[in-house]
Amino acid sequence: MEKIKMNKIVEMDGDEMTRILWKSIKDELLSPFVELNTEYYDLGLKHRDETNDQVSIDAGEACKKYHVGVKCATITPNAQRVEEYQLKEMWKSPNGTIRAILDGTVFRTPILVSGVKPAVRNWEAPITIARHAYGDVYKATEFRLTKPGKAELLFTAEDGEEQRATIYDFECGGVLQGMYNKDTSIKSFARSCFNFALDTKQDLWFSTKDTISKQYDQTFKLIFEEIYNNEYKEKFEQAGITYFYTLIDDAVARVIRSKGGYIWACKNYDGDVMSDMVSTAFGSLAMMTSVLVSPDGNFEYEAAHGTVTKHYYRHLAGEKTSTNPIATIFAWTGALRKRGELDGNAALMQFADDLEQASLSVIESGRMTRDLALMWQGCEPTTLTSDEFIAAIRAALEAIRA
Ligand code: NAP
Ligand code: MG
Repeated sequence: MEKIKMNKIVEMDGDEMTRILWKSIKDELLSPFVELNTEYYDLGLKHRDETNDQVSIDAGEACKKYHVGVKCATITPNAQRVEEYQLKEMWKSPNGTIRAILDGTVFRTPILVSGVKPAVRNWEAPITIARHAYGDVYKATEFRLTKPGKAELLFTAEDGEEQRATIYDFECGGVLQGMYNKDTSIKSFARSCFNFALDTKQDLWFSTKDTISKQYDQTFKLIFEEIYNNEYKEKFEQAGITYFYTLIDDAVARVIRSKGGYIWACKNYDGDVMSDMVSTAFGSLAMMTSVLVSPDGNFEYEAAHGTVTKHYYRHLAGEKTSTNPIATIFAWTGALRKRGELDGNAALMQFADDLEQASLSVIESGRMTRDLALMWQGCEPTTLTSDEFIAAIRAALEAIRA
């Protein structure tokens, strides 16, 4: 059969075990079927170091140019990695660099399979968490106070005008924190969320604590409301989806009672905590995809997990590991499907659907990697190595496309 042709996407290679899987996925599941057309960036730590991390910036810029990218997991260096790789510097996380360039929001969605039951009985469809990844407590300034005194909040405008308020008159030691966010960032967050809801035809929920935080959280609520009413209301009505805002306490209760199948947008801290809760309740990090969506319509797909270092060391020692490639496969199918959508390339979109279906059908037939076998409910599962699992997916894919 003739290979499917496609327009260019950005390919970002990565580190350790996921780099090994990346190659197998391309060789076994993509290249035999698709004439892969990618602009390749090697974000492996060694090459980032060689280029003084310029390659991460170039890759982010390329995502803007081609609108679609797919990224392998990468090491975020810490002190131990600086030593291990003899790095010139403790380079920043490539994800952070790319996010800053695309000004995007990260959406995380679990991949559901029938043998892994969500911990919440009534969840039937995935819940996607959109986390605002800018500011708030992650960029806060904090003091530990050890003696009595007065804490004030002071803003000096560029024109010299001052706004001042007493936070607290301390009669003893205590703690103090100053944090901020920006209208521009909240607006980008809102537009990314509205676009992603339209893109995936799912309802959008947004929650904050605006009853208590009457300026800070209230501003998030009002900015979302204004952008929705002015730019998205009609589009949502046409698509038959809804936007609704509710207090975070109410949102938490509704999420637990829901069937799933919607996007839940959260402020930075809420999204950090809730995404771990939701992903754990759905099963496993190895079954979670992640896509960075920019407000002006660029998409970068990846797995939500890291480079699976422990498995990599076992791989280096000669062991055939049973590392789950599903989230990385779905990062590729996400990117290929998006490329197909943007170009009206139906064959490419069909291929993405087929590969996802093939992957899930192997798991549902009882053959899977170790992480899934440990959670499996139902028939006795067969545990495969990554290579065996990918080979089984290849066979299923060939059968579907025959
Ligand atoms: P990790 O790579 O996600 O792995 C943590 C553990 O989760 C693994 O040891 C494994 O558990 C399990 N796991 C994760 N993915 C799996 C998969 N596909 N198949 C089977 N099991 C899987 O997190 P980490 O060990 O904390 O971080 C490793 C490196 O990844 C770090 O250098 C970090 O900077 C980087 N990282 C990158 C990204 C990214 O690029 N987006 C995200 C997070 C972390 P068992 O060992 O019990 O089998
Ligand atoms: Mg977290």
